[in-house]
Amino acid sequence: MIDIAPGAEVMEASLGVLHEVFGYDAFRGPQADIVSHVGAGGDALVLMPTGGGKSLCYQVPAIVRQQAGLGLTIVVSPLIALMHDQVDALLEAGVDAAYLNSSLSLDDAQRVERQMLRGDITLLYVAPERLTTPRFLAQLDSLHERGQLSLFAIDEAHCVSQWGHDFRPEYRELAVLPERFPGVPRVALTATADSLTRADIVERLQLQSARTFVSSFDRPNIRYLLVEKKDATQQLLRFIRDEHMAGGVHDAGIVYCQSRRRVEEVATLLQNAGLKALPYHAGLDGAVRQTHQDRFVREDGWIMVATVAFGMGIDKPDVRFVAHLDMPKNIEGYYQETGRAGRDGEPANAWMAYGLQDVVNQRRMIDDSPAADEFKQVLRGKLDALLALAETSDCRRVRLLAYFDEVYQGPPGTPAGAVLRPVCMNCDNCLNPPELFDATEPARKLLSCLYRVQQSSGHGFGAGHVMDILRGKKTDKVAQYGHDQLSTFGIGADWSETQWRALLRQLIAREAVRVDDAPYNTLHLADGARPILKGEARVSLRIQAERAPSRSRGQRRSPVDHDGTPLSLAERECLDALRAWRAEVAREHNRPAYVIFHDSTLRDIATRKPQTLADLDGIAGLGVKKREAYGEAVLQVVSAFL
Ligand code: ADP
Ligand code: ZN
Repeated sequence: MIDIAPGAEVMEASLGVLHEVFGYDAFRGPQADIVSHVGAGGDALVLMPTGGGKSLCYQVPAIVRQQAGLGLTIVVSPLIALMHDQVDALLEAGVDAAYLNSSLSLDDAQRVERQMLRGDITLLYVAPERLTTPRFLAQLDSLHERGQLSLFAIDEAHCVSQWGHDFRPEYRELAVLPERFPGVPRVALTATADSLTRADIVERLQLQSARTFVSSFDRPNIRYLLVEKKDATQQLLRFIRDEHMAGGVHDAGIVYCQSRRRVEEVATLLQNAGLKALPYHAGLDGAVRQTHQDRFVREDGWIMVATVAFGMGIDKPDVRFVAHLDMPKNIEGYYQETGRAGRDGEPANAWMAYGLQDVVNQRRMIDDSPAADEFKQVLRGKLDALLALAETSDCRRVRLLAYFDEVYQGPPGTPAGAVLRPVCMNCDNCLNPPELFDATEPARKLLSCLYRVQQSSGHGFGAGHVMDILRGKKTDKVAQYGHDQLSTFGIGADWSETQWRALLRQLIAREAVRVDDAPYNTLHLADGARPILKGEARVSLRIQAERAPSRSRGQRRSPVDHDGTPLSLAERECLDALRAWRAEVAREHNRPAYVIFHDSTLRDIATRKPQTLADLDGIAGLGVKKREAYGEAVLQVVSAFL
C-alpha cells in the first residue's frame, strides 16, 4: 500500500529530516531503502544488528509522514527504560514524542492521550499490553477514521516468537493490527539473526507481504580478542589498563562472570585497583541493583561487573568493552553479549579469557541439567562451536558470521568479490597472526595415552591425571593405579602442562576427545581421534608466547577523530571540558549524558573548534534544535581552547 508520492520525493523529505532533526549527513547501509519504502507506506521487516541504526528506520518515516499530514506513528516497545531514553532523545532533537506505560500516573496518561487525539504527537511509544486494550484501540479507531494514524513500528519484534530469547505473549496480540487498521503500514524490527525466529515473526505478525531488509550481522567496529586463561583477573586488569584507561579517561564497560560470588570478587578487585566498578547480580537488593544500573547508564566511565542477567534492555551506546571472564554457553550468547559494546559505531573491544576448566564446567552443567538427551546433545554441539571459535587461528569474524550462515565479505567498503579469502584486520588473529607448528605427534601421544589408561583401568580419568602420566609425574594416584607402568608414562616430559592443556582443548574442539561426567569429568577418545591416530589428519597448534602481549597491535583505541587520527593534547583537553559540561547538563535535565550528545559529536566539536553558530553546521549529531538549545554553550566551552 503506497499512500504518499513514492521515490524521489520521499527520499528528499527523508534526507531533509535526517540533516535538520538528527544532524547526520547520510543514511547508513540499508537505511535509505528502508526509509523510502516505509515512508511511502510499505510494510517492512527489518533485520539489523545492534547498533545498526534501526531507530531511524521508523523515526524518519514517522516525521516525514506527519509532515505530509498523515498523523501519528505508534511505536511498540517492550521495555520501559528503552522507551524513556528514546523519547528523551527525540525531545532533545525537537520531535514531539511521548510514551504511555505503567510508569505514568493516571493523570499523566490521560494528558498524553488527549495530546494524541489532538494530533500533537508525532511518535508515541507504547507497551504492547497497553496498545491492545479495548480503550486504546478505540482511540486509535477514531484517529484512523480521520486519516490520522500513519504508521505502526514494532520494535524488538523477536518478542513475538518463543524461539527468540525474550518471548512476550502480549506481542501475539499485535496480529489484530492489520485487520483493525487496514492500510496503515507496519514496520517490524529486530536484531535477532536466526531464521527460525524470522519465519515466526512473519507468520505471527501477518507480514507475509512485507518487504524484508536483511543487513549483515557483522559489527565491524568490535574487535574480538580471545585469550588463553592464565591468571584471569590479572589478565583482565592488564587489558583494561592498557586499552581502556588511555590518558586517565575511564571507558565504560561490562565484565561478565558466571556466578554471583565471582561477580562480587571481581568487582572488589577492580575497585581495589582504583577502577570505577560496580557489581550487578540477581542476589543484590533490588534498590542497589537499580542504583548501580542507573549510574552505569547515566554517568560516564563505569565498569559493570555482572552475571548475564545484566544487559537486556540496556541501550547505552558508548559501552567501550565487554569482557568475559568465563566462557558463555554458546555462540548466540557470545554474540549477543559482546554486541552490547560499541552500539554507537565507535571502536570497541570484545575480550574473553577462556580455559579448559570453562569447557569442563559448561559440560557438567549440561550433563547435570534435567533436559532430554537429544536436547543435551544439541547444547553440547553449541558449546563445541564456541570452543572452536576460541581455538581457531583464523579470522574470528569469518568464523562468527559463518555460524550465522553469513559469508563474510571483508571490511565495509570492500568491493564484492575483491578478495578470495576475506580477513577483517580487526580481531586478534588478523592483527597478530598466530604462528603455528605441527602438533600431530604430540596429539597422537596424548590420544594413545588416553587409550592405554582407559584400557588398563576400564574407565576414563580427568585431565590432570592424564597429564601427570604424559609428563612422567609419579603422583600417589599414578602409582596407585599402576599408571607409571604404562608405555605412555613420561613420553611427553618435554612439554609443560600449559602446552598439553592447549593441545587438549584443540582436540576437544575437534571432537577427538570427549569430556564425560561419568565418573567425573573424565576424558575419552571420540570419533575425531581415529584419523589423527591413523595419520590421516594433522593437528596444528599455536606457538605459545610465554607472555602473550596483552595490547593488541594496530591502532590504539585512545580518542581519535573521525579519520582515525589521534587527538592532540589540546583537543583532548577540550574534549574533557566538553564532557564535563555535558555531564552537568545531563544532571540538570535528569537525562543520560548520551541523550544530550554522543561522544562522537563532542569529538567532532573538539577537533573542529567552531567559533560561530554557523561553524556548528555539519557536525554529526547536531541538528537544528540542539544547535538552538546548546550552540552558545558549546561555543563558550570551546572558546577557552582557541
Ligand atoms: P539499533 O537500534 O539498531 O541498535 P540505533 O538506532 O540505536 O541502533 O543506532 C545506533 C547508533 O548509530 C546511534 O548512536 C545512532 O545515533 C547512530 N546512527 C544511526 N544511523 C545513523 C546515520 N545514518 N548516521 C550517523 N549515525 C547514525
Ligand atoms: Zn579477523
